[in-house]
Amino acid sequence: MAVNSDTHEVRLNGISSSPGICIGKAYLVDTHGVEVLNTYYILDSDLKQEKNRFKTAVKKAKNELRDIIKDTPEELRQQSSILESHVVLLEDKLLYGKTLEMMEAELINAEWALKRVVTDLKAVFNEMEDEYFRERANDIVQVSERIWNNLVGAAPVDISEIRKRVILVANDLSPADTSQIQLERVMGFITDRGGRASHTSIIARSLEIPAVQGLNRATSVIKNDDLIVVDGVAGLVIINPTEETLVEFEVRKELYEVQKAQIGRQSHLDATTTDGVTFHVMGNIELPEEVVSVLGYGGDGIGLYRTEFQYLSRPDFPTENELFEKYKDVIDVMGDRPVTIRTLDVNGDKAMGNGRAVNEENPALGLRAIRYCLQKPDVFMTQLRAILRAAAHGKVRILIPMISGMEEITKTKNMLQAAAAELKKEKKTYSSDIEIGIMIEVPAAVMLAESMAPEVDFFSIGTNDLIQYSLAIDRGNREVAHMFNPLHPAIIKMVKQVADVSKQTGTKLYMCGEMAADPANVPLLLGLGIDELSMNSQAIPAVKSMIRLLDTKASHKFTQKVLALNTIDEILDLCQESYGDLLEEHFSVVR
Ligand code: PEP
Ligand code: MG
Repeated sequence: MAVNSDTHEVRLNGISSSPGICIGKAYLVDTHGVEVLNTYYILDSDLKQEKNRFKTAVKKAKNELRDIIKDTPEELRQQSSILESHVVLLEDKLLYGKTLEMMEAELINAEWALKRVVTDLKAVFNEMEDEYFRERANDIVQVSERIWNNLVGAAPVDISEIRKRVILVANDLSPADTSQIQLERVMGFITDRGGRASHTSIIARSLEIPAVQGLNRATSVIKNDDLIVVDGVAGLVIINPTEETLVEFEVRKELYEVQKAQIGRQSHLDATTTDGVTFHVMGNIELPEEVVSVLGYGGDGIGLYRTEFQYLSRPDFPTENELFEKYKDVIDVMGDRPVTIRTLDVNGDKAMGNGRAVNEENPALGLRAIRYCLQKPDVFMTQLRAILRAAAHGKVRILIPMISGMEEITKTKNMLQAAAAELKKEKKTYSSDIEIGIMIEVPAAVMLAESMAPEVDFFSIGTNDLIQYSLAIDRGNREVAHMFNPLHPAIIKMVKQVADVSKQTGTKLYMCGEMAADPANVPLLLGLGIDELSMNSQAIPAVKSMIRLLDTKASHKFTQKVLALNTIDEILDLCQESYGDLLEEHFSVVR
């Protein structure tokens, strides 16, 4: 069915990626040439309009080429003959005529027809013996790309250059793209791909802009300047809303702000349960500047500093001094509160650019995090030295990501010692009085927790990856996003197993995965015996206020019941039965 967003209100459901509601104009971006998947059927009655859309895109492409030719300096005129041939090709029967024919014969949209015609033509030209003809296949691709960009209204855009106040609409955004977003220009974003636990979502939450991901066809339905509503809480996008819808969402937006402000007003109170047990609620940060927001929301420290973003948004590696300065900035603001610096967790979905990326078939299972660091000792050593120097200025903990075996801990500790020895020799100020912890995010670490405990001071459970690696669910894949649930009994049992080890061995147990950010999970986490929760700063006030509503003994009893259940549905029902009213009363709009 054709979706005509020109006149009708259209609703798309996706995955709630970052909370909040915004209403504004759409701005389509096609970053890094990511292909936009615009394929849909059209109605007979829409055929004429769709054909005109294609013709307009071709005409625009022709004008663009003519302008380029006109502006080509005399000495380069020779080259412009290629562009002249492109102008001719734009209206060639093989490309232009065939695309229109296919739209009519199969009632498919212009982008789809164009793509199929180009694929066929490419195949024909590539078969030809003559080199000249084979090269013509490239011309066809270039010409069709120009038409394509005009059709989808999406030229490659440098996100940091956007000047209007808009809502970004993209097929996909990488974590690096997202970290370039200028808050004064971008109200929110929506993407066709992506899942809730993707790093792109994580950054959206830390930027505090509403985002919905996994919409599948937002880029094919939405056009530049369409008015859209983004409800990041419900995971809903509305295109061309009616007056009535607009009023409804203005009200919902206000309610969201009011509820958020209400919870926020109490965020500086301690997170003490009704039976008098106080928990530390910490903030996760990606960039040093976010530390202010953690304090503003009442965070008791930094439970996770994802240091990799300092490596992603630049072409080279940062120096030891640059890193030291950034870490010290965070430590200085936090004063005597703990700052947990996680060592470089690059690759996976956080590839570094400029020739530093490793080309892997299956990056989530590849040279990521500690594996990368141990293979690049010079890069790792630079970071370890910076951390030890920064540790002299505050209360620093070091956290190692993606540990899957004892050797990785031993090697890291040896390198840390070597770094300290170097600094001592160089008479640099540093501190090696620093707690060492590991992320529990690979199933192997759960199984080996008992052997690893004597080697470390704390465990920090990373549920985002623990779910990804235990349940075999790509955290950024929209197709399986519905299965990505921290209340899966296998995940709860794994957390319980680590909690038991922690208790027996006296190893502190923290959680910094997104599971900790939802007030609905808090009774279970308290019942499991997690000592400290860390989350995106926006979520801190709600989690603290949930803790203040709970009793630890009741949470333990509830957790025992949860542990006896074997399906997500049963667990959800029990959560609803036990805490549904309380959640509805206090957090109905913000979660
Ligand atoms: C996790 O995996 O849960 C985690 C906190 O780390 P990241 O999201 O950065 O992979
Ligand atoms: Mg992780």
